[in-house]
Amino acid sequence: MTYSYTQISQYLRCPRQYRYRYLDGWRERDTRAAMIFGRCFETALSSYFCREDSTATLFKEWSQHRDSTLEYRKNDSWDRLYHQGVHLLERFAQDDRVRIEHPKQDLQIQFKRSLPGGCNFVSYVDAIGELDGSRCIIDWKTTTSRYPDEPEGLLSLDPQLACYSWMTGVSDVALIVFVRKQIPEIQYLKTSISDEKRREFGEVAFHAIREIEAGNFQPHSGIRFPQNGCLSCSHLGLCLGSQQLIDSKLIRRPGASDLDWLDQLED
Ligand code: SF4
Repeated sequence: MTYSYTQISQYLRCPRQYRYRYLDGWRERDTRAAMIFGRCFETALSSYFCREDSTATLFKEWSQHRDSTLEYRKNDSWDRLYHQGVHLLERFAQDDRVRIEHPKQDLQIQFKRSLPGGCNFVSYVDAIGELDGSRCIIDWKTTTSRYPDEPEGLLSLDPQLACYSWMTGVSDVALIVFVRKQIPEIQYLKTSISDEKRREFGEVAFHAIREIEAGNFQPHSGIRFPQNGCLSCSHLGLCLGSQQLIDSKLIRRPGASDLDWLDQLED
């Protein structure tokens, strides 16, 4: 069995949702425009580091979805996302703060770790490079709102960065956030993950894997307004027995658990 950060965080959010998705094969339909655009944008970033025309790459990748029926957020459209993407790529090139010396090796790098009990943990790190001259692990995010950067040190609690640091043994990590808003912005956030945080993440992951392998998939309890995670859960239709919600949100893919680690590429 191979595990990934996405699986562990899904299990911690709601064990029942984990079972629906990874064991029963209920996957969310791939119709979220923002998520698909994020993937196209990351491909364009890769081409930027390979000294290719990144805006042409973005256009080529995103054009493949021009006539698809995608779910856009209010006020979003294919054109609007494209123009925001171009603006962000131009700003990123002007800032010139990130260097990836060997893009063929240092982008989308696979790390694999054997865990006690014979299973593996796999991570795909977006990049290893330099931010403002310091070497670090880099994770790209495209989003519509700024990441909180206060209070100081908040980023060191980010579980995904802790996971990448645990997998690679590298303590310096950076989040480069491409914010798609009226005036696009790029946040360059950097932190250091301590040995203790790495160890803690390892314990959380081992604990979750033990629970998964013991077959514990209770629905998450204690849900209260306004933080009702069920409202944004793509598997809500299964919990409510609503065929209409199931049909609109999910698609069933038997055998999906073999490819769980690929979900890392969606983050
Ligand atoms: S609807 Fe709520 S309880 Fe059901 S799988 Fe989703 S998060 Fe869990």
